[in-house]
Amino acid sequence: MPEGDTVFRTATKLREALAGKTLTRCDVRVPKFATVDLTGCVVDEVISRGKHLFIRAGDASIHSHLKMDGAWLIDGQIRRIQPHKIRILLETEDSRAAGIDLGVLEILKREHDMDVVDHLGPDLLGADWEPRIARENLVSDPERPLAETLLDQRVIAGVGNVYANELCFVTGYLPTTPVGNVKDPLRMVQRARDMLWLNRSRVNRTTTGDTRSGRDLWVYGRVGRPCRRCNTPIESDRADVVGTDRISFWCPNCQR
Ligand SMILES: [Zn+2]
Repeated sequence: MPEGDTVFRTATKLREALAGKTLTRCDVRVPKFATVDLTGCVVDEVISRGKHLFIRAGDASIHSHLKMDGAWLIDGQIRRIQPHKIRILLETEDSRAAGIDLGVLEILKREHDMDVVDHLGPDLLGADWEPRIARENLVSDPERPLAETLLDQRVIAGVGNVYANELCFVTGYLPTTPVGNVKDPLRMVQRARDMLWLNRSRVNRTTTGDTRSGRDLWVYGRVGRPCRRCNTPIESDRADVVGTDRISFWCPNCQR
């Protein structure tokens, strides 16, 4: 599942391709909105909030969420995609953007578009990031497991499964640790912010500081391989949640 940094980067890419330009084609291939045509409207803004994207044009706002497999592709990237995967196609005189397999795609009234993200906690990559509110949200249910809490977008917006696991490792806690046992929850949310912020414009995400493939992450996806700090094999446990990729990875020596 895409993390907040992927969504932030997607917004940047869409902004570069579309912002300030007039739509010359707007083809929405979702039955409920198939009659919406924003041709002639100028794209004013592209906004990301947590994992949600908004493309504002005229008095409409195209709201999308990438969920498991969604993506927005630009120009040349679109040619490689089978047409039936395209949910929406936007064109201007010199650019094209296509939304592929989007988990959510709806056309909202622009003046109310932020209502759909009302429930989100502080946005890790938002200009209005609020570490103290994030800290309060994090510990509001002290018995709840740390990784599960970090993934709850109502607590803080932007953490996906990669960052949830990596944050547990760098702070030395097991993913199952009750959040009430985290000694410095403010530092925890600030580390989350730092991790996403450092990766917001990187194509190759890294939490170790090394962007080389195979050296970029501490524990995520590394089951059975040696911990980078202590050589203990990394353990993993697939959480019993259907339809998600919520697998935990941890080092049984470095994380207690
Ligand atoms: Zn270790």
